[in-house]
Amino acid sequence: MDRLAYVIHEHAARQHHYDLRLEHDGVLLSWAVPKGPSLDPADKRLAMRVDDHPLEHAGFEGVIPEGEYGAGTVMVWDRGAWQPAGDVAEMLAAGRLEFRLLGAKLAGAWALVRMRPRPGERGESWLLIKHRDEEVRPRSEYDVLAEDRSAATGRTMAEIASEGAAGNA
Ligand code: MN
Repeated sequence: MDRLAYVIHEHAARQHHYDLRLEHDGVLLSWAVPKGPSLDPADKRLAMRVDDHPLEHAGFEGVIPEGEYGAGTVMVWDRGAWQPAGDVAEMLAAGRLEFRLLGAKLAGAWALVRMRPRPGERGESWLLIKHRDEEVRPRSEYDVLAEDRSAATGRTMAEIASEGAAGNA
């Protein structure tokens, strides 16, 4: 089975968010998660489906200049591989994507579940949910977002903002 890329970018754009990206069919399926992921199954995190990104973007870490789309600092917050639990196209169409993550910070079983569209809604609203397994951590005990260094370079957002792209990113 091919190894499919998984990455979460922390993105200090106009509104700070995390971008979950999953390789599929030569692109990165992408969701913007305003509050970021949680290892607590009780946290159902809003995840707005956004445009697919090119595969090459998976390793990007640096600063997107003012005036460009997504201007702001971008960190490779987590990376690794993902394993869909079935046919990706069918799960997307059904509005329920089940998968495993094999990252440095996130692992175990997860789901993206599409919410019922609302009148006048722009874009697709999904929920990012941690399934119950050995990777669960109650957020009252541990918030994975406290892990605030790059999985690629070990840098903080402030260090990336001042240094820009790293040679080994
Ligand atoms: Mn973004």
